[in-house]
Amino acid sequence: ASMEDRVRALDLGASDFVEKPFEVVELKARVRSALRVQHLVKMLAQRAQVDGLTGLWNRTYFDRRLLQECSEAQRHGRSVSLVMCDVDGFKRLNDERGHPFGDMVLERLSRILQGGRGSDVACRYGGEEFGIILPHTAGMEALEVAERYRRSFEVETWHGAPGKVITASFGVAEMAAAGRPMSVADLVAAADAALYRAKLNGRNRVEAAFAPNHAG
Ligand code: GH3
Ligand code: MG
Ligand code: MG
Repeated sequence: ASMEDRVRALDLGASDFVEKPFEVVELKARVRSALRVQHLVKMLAQRAQVDGLTGLWNRTYFDRRLLQECSEAQRHGRSVSLVMCDVDGFKRLNDERGHPFGDMVLERLSRILQGGRGSDVACRYGGEEFGIILPHTAGMEALEVAERYRRSFEVETWHGAPGKVITASFGVAEMAAAGRPMSVADLVAAADAALYRAKLNGRNRVEAAFAPNHAG
């Protein structure tokens, strides 16, 4: 009950302190108050990792999670793949149809990217660019996943723009289970280079950073 005890308890991480004898109603009210604070802290921590427009994980989360998945894959000798995605001609789309339309396009694409396997991690990398982390997934499989995303997006229909076809390009890279260890930066750069190639080769396509094994 001493002042030192209270200070020590709080410094050790206690969220509150009641002294005996106490009233149960007060104790309960203090517990409720602590739970409210805990709920807010959790909510803020969660929001700091989520993109406001699309509800996907944001860039901060992407960087942290990719590092974690790469180190885990290396430790356990497993593959991890990365799909980078960029909407085609998005600047023009915004200019022609307005930013609310552009925002709707980003939200729709996000729903598609989120609709994969539960373990896949879809993130908004920046503006109209997305990064999807596929843990325990080899490059060839990731290539198929990206191709599914590409097709699903291409066939979307747009309210107020009948017949409009909007597309995205994809770059796929893998850190192969049996391959050389790669840094996160290498993996992102490889997926980015493949994405750049998809743009050069005409857009609305998927390119791989590795040599696709068509027989497999
Ligand atoms: P490319 O086919 O080569 O990818 O061309 P692009 O026009 O898609 O590429 P660019 O990078 O030139 O344009 C991206 C545009 O995305 C520019 C910016 O105005 C727009 N943008 C970025 N973030 C948002 C957003 O949150 N909402 C909307 N509506 N537009 C955004
Ligand atoms: Mg872009
Ligand atoms: Mg673009």
